[in-house]
Amino acid sequence: MEMPNKDPVNKIIIALDSPSFEDGFSMVLRLKERINTFKVGPILFLTNGPDGIEQLKSLGVDLFFDFKFHDIPTTVEKTTEHLVRYGINMFTIHTLGGYEMMSSVCRRVEEEAAKFNKNKPEVIGVTMLTSHNEENLHDIGIRSGIKEQVLRLAQLAEKAGVDGLVCSGYEIEFLKNEFGERFKYIVPGIRIDKNTHDQKRVVTPSDALQKGADYIVIGRAVTEAVNPQEVVDGIIESIKHS
Ligand code: C5P
Repeated sequence: MEMPNKDPVNKIIIALDSPSFEDGFSMVLRLKERINTFKVGPILFLTNGPDGIEQLKSLGVDLFFDFKFHDIPTTVEKTTEHLVRYGINMFTIHTLGGYEMMSSVCRRVEEEAAKFNKNKPEVIGVTMLTSHNEENLHDIGIRSGIKEQVLRLAQLAEKAGVDGLVCSGYEIEFLKNEFGERFKYIVPGIRIDKNTHDQKRVVTPSDALQKGADYIVIGRAVTEAVNPQEVVDGIIESIKHS
């Protein structure tokens, strides 16, 4: 069977949030001819720890480690050293962790990568979760609007040396206007039908890419499908010209 063109594939990241390592591993086996990057978060990681990471890496795919670290600078810095050694390609920190945390992480991964002769993972800053809307933000004491809050966090991330931002499809255009190619833009909250699950600010794959996303993160719309390969092929077709 002829495989789809690899270009759009580089823009799709599949989120593996399975509570069973075997299910996550077999999802990668099923999709790896089509998809280069898979996102591992706490749900999957805690099923099989570092061994699981090794097993996934042995399949020759890139790994995006999405733990959204948010702690004091030293703790996050020391945590991310491990990620360099595991050969993780990208990982997330919360921009809400502040300038000092973000800048010390960026510095440390660069030093570690040089020391162990590894590729430096891309440090990706999460701005506001796509499961939040303005009402939720007010509940947690953030009085500014989403856009204002995202802009403030992105300015800090820029200064700290962060490589990319996670943002919703609703913020990407203004972020691109503000920061241009300075960041890679990663957009979760992608939906291909009306089922939004717990996400509030959702967009379709082609909308996100047309607005300027470098990567789209798709989880349940693919992983819970009866035929994930078929869904991925449909997404690839829909974004071919984006
Ligand atoms: O299943 P679904 O497509 O909603 O999965 C989205 C993935 O992206 C989840 O793994 C979630 O943790 C992650 N994510 C998100 N919103 C952010 C950052 C990451 O939904 N702002």
